[in-house]
Amino acid sequence: MTDPVDEDRIETARRLFAGPVAFLKSAPGLKFLPDADVPEVAFAGRSNVGKSSLLNALTGRNALARTSNTPGRTQELNFFDVGTPLTLRLVDMPGYGFAKAPKDVVQKWRFLVNDFLRGRSVLKRTLVLIDARHGLKDVDREIMKMLDDAAVSYRIVLTKADKIKPTELEAVRERTVAEARTRPAAHPDIISTSSETGLGIAELRAAVIEAIG
Ligand code: GDP
Repeated sequence: MTDPVDEDRIETARRLFAGPVAFLKSAPGLKFLPDADVPEVAFAGRSNVGKSSLLNALTGRNALARTSNTPGRTQELNFFDVGTPLTLRLVDMPGYGFAKAPKDVVQKWRFLVNDFLRGRSVLKRTLVLIDARHGLKDVDREIMKMLDDAAVSYRIVLTKADKIKPTELEAVRERTVAEARTRPAAHPDIISTSSETGLGIAELRAAVIEAIG
């Protein structure tokens, strides 16, 4: 049975995301960040994890977040305003883990993300997206370490859950939860999602609301 508090949060979240959501700006460096005047929830994940699809599913828009995943072209933080009056900002962080990314691109990603995580007082939580077919990889552990070191709270979200059998999903989920529970800044629970079937999307919306308190 769902907790009534959860049900309230799911309804609040549904209403919020049914309202206005608008692209605000892209920030290729810290000096381009919007004013830190509203709580933010960021989305991180390796390229192709399904981040754009999930942001679109979360906000019920078809083309809010666009895939522009060419190495070297994605070193930007994209900000989206949610709600009137403005309630929160979603931050689409640049994808990582390109097999062939040049070293300077990887380094630029590291600096941008690290500086953002360490300096952004309004960042309430980061959702770290993990492809359910693959589970946690070392590139994911690198960003988890950056989040732990910056003391930014984060929660793991499995994507593309429709692509594997329920028994496999359960196994990945258990392994991932076990690892999350060893990390200082990780939320102890994870969310399984599919942008294709809508699995976990209401829960994800509620998790965003929970993150901003
Ligand atoms: P991004 O690079 O992380 O922004 O990933 P995209 O959202 O562009 O998705 C990468 C690919 O995975 C695309 O071909 C999507 O159609 C596909 N995809 C994303 N989410 C899902 C999902 O939940 N289920 C399935 N089956 N495919 C998905």
